[in-house]
Amino acid sequence: MKSRLLENERDPMGQAIRDYFEKGRAGRLRVFSPQFDEDEMPVDMLFRSEKQMSALERKALSLCGGRVLDVGAGAGCHSLVLQANGMEVTALDISPLSVEVMRRRGVKWAREADLFDDSWTGCFDTVLMLMNGSGIIGRLERMPLFFRRMKQLLSPGGYVLMDSSDLRYLYEDEDGVMDIDLNAGYYGEMEFSMQYKNVKGDPFGWLYVDFATLSYYAQENGFRAELLAEGEHYDYLARLSVG
Ligand code: SAH
Repeated sequence: MKSRLLENERDPMGQAIRDYFEKGRAGRLRVFSPQFDEDEMPVDMLFRSEKQMSALERKALSLCGGRVLDVGAGAGCHSLVLQANGMEVTALDISPLSVEVMRRRGVKWAREADLFDDSWTGCFDTVLMLMNGSGIIGRLERMPLFFRRMKQLLSPGGYVLMDSSDLRYLYEDEDGVMDIDLNAGYYGEMEFSMQYKNVKGDPFGWLYVDFATLSYYAQENGFRAELLAEGEHYDYLARLSVG
């Protein structure tokens, strides 16, 4: 697959990350979706410290071992915690602006690349995907591609730690009955676009996946999914390993 790095003029999140890093504050990072009302992503949240992280995130960090690949590392919050604990981490992002900030923040191995670009390779014991890490897969139909890529990148015995959410609560009535259009595709497939100041990004698919669906695709593609922990709002942490 062709490499797909973001251009600075189309990378609102990267611009917000650079502003926040350089000035200690940033403007509004606006989030649009055909499925939701306009929303905002707090930029300081991308710079959260270990103390500010959720229990699920801290659990994921505690389970990292060996060589770690932090996928979609953003401002590098997880990579920096792991590095401070003496671990060997490669932080990966398609945003050159974010990668530059990660390097300036002290991430030793920060790399500009698309996870799905198989012209680069590596061997990792842990692949970390956090903050609805399944999002990067984009759509359910890309699950086989994702698992194939994980087979290329994982060492024998290695695993993926990924968090996600079951969006069923968006479609449930008060009695917990789900009202979804089964012809409309999987209910966790979202589309977003972002804007920061006058920098607008292209729309992108972002996948939220419930654990049963994730397990099904894992099995179909030669992986095993384990539910490691559940959060307070339909969110969970999973481990995916070959087997
Ligand atoms: N994990 C970070 C940032 C999450 S935001 C945190 O928890 O704070 C998601 C990040 O994934 C963005 O920085 C975006 O540029 C990056 N990203 C999106 N698609 C990607 C891909 N295909 N390969 C690598 N990084 C990607």
